Amino acid sequence: MAVAPTELGFVEKRASWKLRSKFFPSKVGGFPAWLRLSNLPNRTDLLCQVCNHPLTFLLQVYAPVFELEEAFHRTIYIFMCRNSSCNKTSSRINFSVFRNQLPRKNEFYSFEPPEFNEKSSMQPCADQFQKMCAICGCCAILNCHKCAQIDYCCEDHKTLDWEWNHIHNCPSEKKEIPEKKKLINHFLLSEFELVTETEESLPDVPEKSDEEKMKDYQKFLQSSSSKELQDMPVGDLGYVEEKKDKAFNKFQKRVKLEPEQVLRYQKGGVPLWVSSENVPSENDIPNCSCGAKRHFEFQVMPQLLNYLSLDSVQESIDWGTLIIYTCSASCSAGVDTYVKEFLWKQDFSDVSLTMQQ
Ligand SMILES: [Zn+2]
Ligand SMILES: [Zn+2]
Ligand SMILES: [Zn+2]
Ligand SMILES: [Zn+2]
Repeated sequence: MAVAPTELGFVEKRASWKLRSKFFPSKVGGFPAWLRLSNLPNRTDLLCQVCNHPLTFLLQVYAPVFELEEAFHRTIYIFMCRNSSCNKTSSRINFSVFRNQLPRKNEFYSFEPPEFNEKSSMQPCADQFQKMCAICGCCAILNCHKCAQIDYCCEDHKTLDWEWNHIHNCPSEKKEIPEKKKLINHFLLSEFELVTETEESLPDVPEKSDEEKMKDYQKFLQSSSSKELQDMPVGDLGYVEEKKDKAFNKFQKRVKLEPEQVLRYQKGGVPLWVSSENVPSENDIPNCSCGAKRHFEFQVMPQLLNYLSLDSVQESIDWGTLIIYTCSASCSAGVDTYVKEFLWKQDFSDVSLTMQQ
């Protein structure tokens, strides 16, 4: 089967109601918009394997497979730990990926496309099927022990909500309820819609001189969100220039055509590597539990870091690219729940070399 051209993803601000489950969004940040509204991922699968705290929702991509009746609706989710000390070079340990899919005729959504209005945007919604954490939007197992009206996934989130919001509006506190305040939530990332557009094929550009290439590279470093790159003294650039590899050259050329791209989608295609180091071999990518190979589906670009409001000193989360591999059969194994898929993280390798000097 021929591979379709790459779809590029860009972020756009949108009112939250337009990004709810009912409308099958692709989105970044905010609460996850769950596709299957029951049997959400287990709490243990949403804990960081380094610090054991809950993961934050990063993004979801709505990617139906039209040839498959049972994948008429299909969404891939990425979660990550926003604790910077869990973020290690080329390690994927602080990320989790899930896939879920539904046939057109299912127990949650109408067979025909939904009406697009705010009033009914919460019908249906995952909180009609289970209790949801007020901070992270995942399954809840606790509630406010005073009023029992607000639910949480863990003690962490209960405490955070108490500090940020609930101390002012817990009915048991018998305080003057202040004017309806916007809820504070520093756990979630800034919310955007992910919109896509097909990438144009690469035009033939005449080879540039070394001097021009160097200039481009310096410009890239200055515009890059990557903190390590920005922090690098200018004197080191020559070193990086020497070491930078073909893969990075290609990456830079591709990205320059659409510098705002935050995602590249090409199911069954090949990723755009940011480096020729730390490229996984076939053995590094485990098969799906159904036995089928996992193949490349999409990648998250470093440009996304510019939009996440992660720029405080404590939150130096960084990546060159996050590459998502999914079951090539889009199997229905565990179809009544969320199944795990595979993420590979690649960093700008020259930089790590420089940093080790
Ligand atoms: Zn962590
Ligand atoms: Zn939570
Ligand atoms: Zn309460
Ligand atoms: Zn499978």
